[in-house]
Amino acid sequence: MSFVVYNTLSREKEPFVPLDAGHVRLYVCGPTVYDYVHIGNARPVVAFDVLYRLLRRRYRRVTYVRNITDIDDRIMVRAADNNESIEALTTRTADAYQGDMRRLGALAPDVEPRATEYVGEMVAMIERLVAKGHAYAAEGHVLFSVPSMGDYGRLSRRTRDELVAGARVEVAPYKKDPADFVLWKPSTERQPGWPSPWGRGRPGWHIECSAMSAKHLGETFDIHAGGLDLIFPHHENEIAQSRCTFGHALMAKYWMHNGFLNISGEKMSKSLGNFFTVHELLDQYPGEAIRLLLLSAHYRQPLDFTHDGLVQAKATLDRWYGALRGRDAPAASRVPQAVEDALSDDLNTPLAISAVHQLGDPADLRAGAQALGLLQHDAEAWFRWTPAGASGPSDAEIAAAIGARQAARQARDFKAADRIRDDLKAKGVVLEDGPTGTTWKRG
Ligand code: AMP
Ligand code: ZN
Repeated sequence: MSFVVYNTLSREKEPFVPLDAGHVRLYVCGPTVYDYVHIGNARPVVAFDVLYRLLRRRYRRVTYVRNITDIDDRIMVRAADNNESIEALTTRTADAYQGDMRRLGALAPDVEPRATEYVGEMVAMIERLVAKGHAYAAEGHVLFSVPSMGDYGRLSRRTRDELVAGARVEVAPYKKDPADFVLWKPSTERQPGWPSPWGRGRPGWHIECSAMSAKHLGETFDIHAGGLDLIFPHHENEIAQSRCTFGHALMAKYWMHNGFLNISGEKMSKSLGNFFTVHELLDQYPGEAIRLLLLSAHYRQPLDFTHDGLVQAKATLDRWYGALRGRDAPAASRVPQAVEDALSDDLNTPLAISAVHQLGDPADLRAGAQALGLLQHDAEAWFRWTPAGASGPSDAEIAAAIGARQAARQARDFKAADRIRDDLKAKGVVLEDGPTGTTWKRG
């Protein structure tokens, strides 16, 4: 079955045909690293991880680039508040981000470029834009000239009035047109800055992704993805910069955007303060439960976050892992057809999940779930998971108690054996005797 994707550029589902069948190239906008990310930020990571897994099953070579934005005014403010260096802050938070995403079962991208390492490429692009009349310098800034691009606005389909209003531009006397946007801005002595033909300064946000994607994927590539809020202005401006620099009709052939993760019907966001960080949720729920919740709605639909949703997701995984227990098998070499078909239809993960529910054979169950990045653990290890700070016996203590119970039974001291079992039960650990020995689970 051919892979069909909804392309924001055409507002239609289209068959996916890569520019180069031998090498598929994917770019996803990553986070700005100044704090732990919230679970809304994890939605694109998890959704497009399912995409990456699908592409890797179908194409010999896939290059997935997801950037880390480590230059931003929010970073400067937070570093000052914390009384730490910008580098210390961005290194610490980028490490935490990577660790949290790994615990959500997301594969590492092939390249994870950090903006500060590509300032030279950004300056070179801006110079080309100036030389071609698409950008101009004014008062230490360099601005992209929106009227210089005939078909600016194709992705977001905004009218000129909407563009100007949506740009939420602070009135800046150096702008020739209110829709023009910043490519480069000056830095004060105390702000981070790099030398440039326009003086010491730093890049605007949009130019970062244009430079990093061109460097690692080429001037035109297959898929560019991110959250819905990035369509305008971020992606529109990336397109303007890349197309005007390189002179191509396309920056990326397909544009994919995930819907919002909401909380009580409102977009989860740092600025509203209605967020849960992935880091804190991972103390209370296993990573796969968070992942399953994120995949329970189609990626383009809104998804309401609730703790109850996470409890239900964990219960589903308990059931699946329970089915593997004692009859575990490596994943089948092929993803079951019903799961593959669902994912081939614009990543229909809710349909894929219901297909996984139908799989009886443990090898198929694992293979189907693993296409979603689920059932990655050993079943016994899954049932050993405990929330952070939970009291109760450690794994080693449980193993020792099971050994002692075994010894008591061999000595035919069934009273002692039962006492050990009841004692564990009182501490929240349930023993199950099966043909291959005694297994246990918490809760
Ligand atoms: P930011 O660091 O704000 O640029 O966000 C990083 C990524 O998370 C972008 O792709 C955003 O579109 C996405 N994102 C932010 N908030 C949400 C949300 N509530 N639901 C889904 N995606 C989000
Ligand atoms: Zn971007």
